[in-house]
Formats: sequence, structure tokens, C-alpha cells
Amino acid sequence: MSAKAMVFIDGVWLYRSRGTLFQKLGEENGFEIDYAKLPRILCEDVANFLDEDVSLVRTNYFGTIPSARSGFNTSKQYAFYDFLERSCGYETEIHEIDIVSSGDRSDECWTKLSLSAALLYYAAQPGAYDIAIVMGDDPEFEPAIRRARLMGKRMQIVGIRPPEGMRPDASLFNRHRTCDFPPVYLDDHAAEVRLVRERRIRTCKQCGREEETTWAGPDFFCSNCRGRYRSS
Ligand SMILES: [Zn+2]
Repeated sequence: MSAKAMVFIDGVWLYRSRGTLFQKLGEENGFEIDYAKLPRILCEDVANFLDEDVSLVRTNYFGTIPSARSGFNTSKQYAFYDFLERSCGYETEIHEIDIVSSGDRSDECWTKLSLSAALLYYAAQPGAYDIAIVMGDDPEFEPAIRRARLMGKRMQIVGIRPPEGMRPDASLFNRHRTCDFPPVYLDDHAAEVRLVRERRIRTCKQCGREEETTWAGPDFFCSNCRGRYRSS
């Protein structure tokens, strides 16, 4: 039987780390991340190291969203989280926070604590996972990771290569008894996690016309029908 892996993504950490990925490929204006592929890349990495089958049982994503009274337009963010669930198969846990009154880094606290809680919750469910792949190398994850390891779970930590001059203890990798595998640096995988949109011919759901597109979503509407939809 293959080992079961669960991926835990600190969404705030990933958002913060995007810049490093962009720099790595010399794309200062950024690029899209292939969220559907991301957990599979990490899983394959563990499988290659172990030289055995590893099955991905779930990807848990932790994020925040400004509360309605903050006055931000959150529709784009909701659409993104919806996309992660529907199109990428993620399980998302999104916390609504009042970013005005709770300070700059409160979103990080929310994602770190909810990720830690889920890591231990699933560790306590018999047979839920054997290997946790934690995306986020902040040292605050150490207590939860150490407890999960005491429960016999193996840990893979995914981070970003530390910048020159960073204090060694600022990274989870340098903490004692946290990691069961060699470190994985997301920036080393930048080219793989970059979304490559394939151009192909698709049939319009409305009028049946065929058109070349990079849209990979379930329903395709041609440029004519999209225009009509917008103006109505
Ligand atoms: Zn059409």
C-alpha cells in the first residue's frame, strides 16, 4: 500500500513568496501559478526520495479574507478560493478578518494557527495521512510539527531558499527534529509551478462556433457570445 500524503498550504506564506518565484524566472511582473499541479509536484518529490508510491489524499489551503466591514471589494478573492476548491480539488479554510483593527501580520497568525490545528487534527485521525507536506517554512510551525512527528507522522517542509545573511534560526529547516526529508525549495521548482496555458480549439457552449482559446475552465463561450453576455 502506498504512503498517504496530505499537503498543507499556508496561503499567506505562498502569496508572500511569489516574488521570489517571479525573480527566479526573471519575470518581475509575475506569472500565474499552476495550483492544480503544485501539490502533485511536491508529492512526486517525496515519492522520488522514498523511491516508493505516495498518494496525495488531500490538499488543505489556509487563507484569510478582509471582513465585509473593512470596505474592500473581496469578490476577486472569493472567486480565487472558489477556483481552488472547484477546479483544483483543494479543501480551503478561509478566515474572515478585520484587517483594519487587527494589525499588519494578523493574517499570518490566522493561517499559521489554523494550519497547525489541522495538521494535528488529521494526525489524530487513524489512517488520515502518513506524510504531511507543509508549505511554509516559518519557525512558528515547529511546535505542531514536532507533535505530529511524535504521533509517527513524517514531515516534508517546503520553503524558499533563505536570502543571504538571514539568521539560520529564522527558518524551520534549521530547527531540530522538524523534517524527515531533505528540504524542498519552491524557487527550485519555479519553472514547474508556472502555469502554461495551452492554446486549443474549443466549441462555444452558446452558439457552437469553434475558436482558439487558452481558457481551460469547464464551459467555454466564444468571443461573440462573451461580448453579448457583457452588454446585456
Ligand atoms: Zn458563441
